[in-house]
Amino acid sequence: TWGRVCKDLEKTIGKNNYVTWIAPLEFRALEDGVARFAVPTNFVGEWVKRNFGDRIVEQLARNGMAVDRLEFAVAASKPAGTTASAAAPKRPASVSQSDARGEGDLPGAPLDARFTFETFVTGKPNELAHAAARRVAEGGAVTFNPLFLYGGVGLGKTHLMHAIAWELRERVPEAKVVYLSAEQFMYRFVQALRERDMMGFKSLFRSVDVLMVDDVQFIAGKDSTQEEFFHTFNALVDQGKQIVISADRAPGEIKDLEDRIKSRLQCGLVVDLHPTDYELRLGILQQKVEMYRQQYPGLVISDGVLEFLAHRITTNVRVLEGALTRLFAFASLVGKEITLDLAQDCLADILRASERKVTVEEIQRKVSEHFNMRLADMVGPKRHRTIARPRQIAMWLAKQLTQRSLPEIGRRFGGRDHTTVMHAVKRIEELRASDSQIAEDLEMLRRMLEG
Ligand code: ADP
Ligand code: MG
Repeated sequence: TWGRVCKDLEKTIGKNNYVTWIAPLEFRALEDGVARFAVPTNFVGEWVKRNFGDRIVEQLARNGMAVDRLEFAVAASKPAGTTASAAAPKRPASVSQSDARGEGDLPGAPLDARFTFETFVTGKPNELAHAAARRVAEGGAVTFNPLFLYGGVGLGKTHLMHAIAWELRERVPEAKVVYLSAEQFMYRFVQALRERDMMGFKSLFRSVDVLMVDDVQFIAGKDSTQEEFFHTFNALVDQGKQIVISADRAPGEIKDLEDRIKSRLQCGLVVDLHPTDYELRLGILQQKVEMYRQQYPGLVISDGVLEFLAHRITTNVRVLEGALTRLFAFASLVGKEITLDLAQDCLADILRASERKVTVEEIQRKVSEHFNMRLADMVGPKRHRTIARPRQIAMWLAKQLTQRSLPEIGRRFGGRDHTTVMHAVKRIEELRASDSQIAEDLEMLRRMLEG
């Protein structure tokens, strides 16, 4: 019945509030008039109690649970990787379930109501992926099959897949659109094996019109699941049904995935979501601020703070969103304006965790751009000075700006020996001391790379 209480609460407090504050709660128990919840942070607990406590008690009562007190305790720590956005709302797993639409037994996972095309901000790094997703969502003739989206964590793969599903439901309501993670696919498969119902499993998945499988790298190394996935995939493609797949890397780079599956995955359209750039991050922040304006009408956040966040939190959009959520909540709790100082205080942990980490590849790219040479020559065999010198500079920067050891750096420069790197580092040090032009170049490159 907590599920029903949630639905009622969502109606009374609005979707935004619901998603941010109620969805992260886990209902644990009701004893002696005390309802116990697990919360992701103390802050969320405090906030909910203060702002929504009465309404929760009221809705519980309406659903036949007499309660006179709510208790919130922080849940045991989450797996690593989710800590940076501790105050961010969890996915509203129960919102907008597909079951309300009478789809019976379709094997899909629920869709997140926030992940639509309207809320997806586009920029250079994701415009191709976005355009391809839009095309699939038009629901016309299948033009590329599968659509394979890949990219790092938190760059919007799941968001785009949900957006496709929402759009298709609107445009082609009769189509059976199924979204699920590769993990859920495996779970279904294993369950069918256990219950000796492979027939049921097969006919279920083969009756789908659009199949979307998220995070397919998960089935790498899981042989029988791969096998079944391959058959499902082929059966659907043969019937002219659309398939959309996501992964954290390109098909060819997923280890322990059968070659025939790799080549199948590559035969449609493969597009990647590039790491976000500054403009895209700023755009996403501005869009979120618009949304928060309705929720926290009195609060102002200056462009300077947004620019600061877009500049400093570069890894992952989820972390960026979490930072903003926390900032708004904190500012409205303490009734302060959101200044740069407040942001730095309130987000110290997130900012520390996303301190820029420069990679050897980035260094090679920047240095070859700067000296107008081909990137391939960074790792190639050419020894002419116009190439060897920039290469040495890149090695020196790699030593200065990354944690890599000399042998590791050598390996990234086309498998060179660590003594070569050591020699380069020494040579550049000497030049830096004697040649002010080089010293300036080095300084500029270093500043550019450190962002
Ligand atoms: P992935 O599946 O690639 O790990 P998600 O799709 O789960 O990433 O995105 C992480 C979070 O960032 C989500 O809350 C999503 O809405 C948000 N997000 C990512 N990219 C964008 C974008 N271009 N515009 C708006 N929100 C975005
Ligand atoms: Mg995802």
